[in-house]
Amino acid sequence: MRFDVLTLFPQMFEAVLGDSIIGRARENKILEMNFIDIRDFSTNKHRKTDDYPYSGGGGMIMNAQPVYDAYMSVAGGLDYKPLTIYMSPQGKVFNQGMALDLSKEEHIVLLCGHYEGIDQRVIDEIVDMELSIGDFVLTGGEIPAMTVIDAVSRLIPGVLASNASYENESHFGGLLEYPQYTRPAEWHGVPIPDVLLSGHHANIEKWKREQSLIVTLKKRPDMLEKAELTKDDIEFLKKYK
Ligand code: SAM
Repeated sequence: MRFDVLTLFPQMFEAVLGDSIIGRARENKILEMNFIDIRDFSTNKHRKTDDYPYSGGGGMIMNAQPVYDAYMSVAGGLDYKPLTIYMSPQGKVFNQGMALDLSKEEHIVLLCGHYEGIDQRVIDEIVDMELSIGDFVLTGGEIPAMTVIDAVSRLIPGVLASNASYENESHFGGLLEYPQYTRPAEWHGVPIPDVLLSGHHANIEKWKREQSLIVTLKKRPDMLEKAELTKDDIEFLKKYK
């Protein structure tokens, strides 16, 4: 899968996406990432890429031309339109379901705004979708773009050691994950639950499901309303409450 990021701050990305699991997947050519400096497409001799808003008020707006030319440096030679996403506090709020949908794309272009945003005309011309990472305003789209790339990348086959690594995780099936423990079996006088040492696979699976239900009930009861619950889940929750 290929990501192209259009940004005024390409140097921010390698620190986050150059190491660990994502960095390895890039080395192994499962993921391709290009961080494109919008400033390289400025026609201004000082490499300026922003100007005052016509509507007045504070802040600067990124000019349409360098953003468009940066986009065309990626999309211009292709015989298809890559899915182009503007990271924006006005977009749909990103979630795990969207990450899974995006992981099926072949090529995504992420546009990062900065300052007070981007001239609306280039957004209207190139953008297919706006995504927000939450109802708050950041200084730029770089952290949101890294967030989306990270969440999407780990769902691409071959990036994690096995699909099971994410299929049990919080938000995947509409529930939060059960508590996790590692060695030693007792720490600060607190033992791990007996069932995890029993070697009884079915009981361990039952424990995991029930713990997921309890954790979700305690931390995010709103999620239970939308989760796909079995009869056993509903019975368990009735008794637990
Ligand atoms: N003036 C814009 C508004 O009110 O909608 C906000 C601009 S914000 C200061 C600068 C850039 O940061 C935006 O163009 C966008 O790319 C990014 N950004 C800020 N908050 C974001 C969020 N919650 N999700 C995604 N991107 C965000």
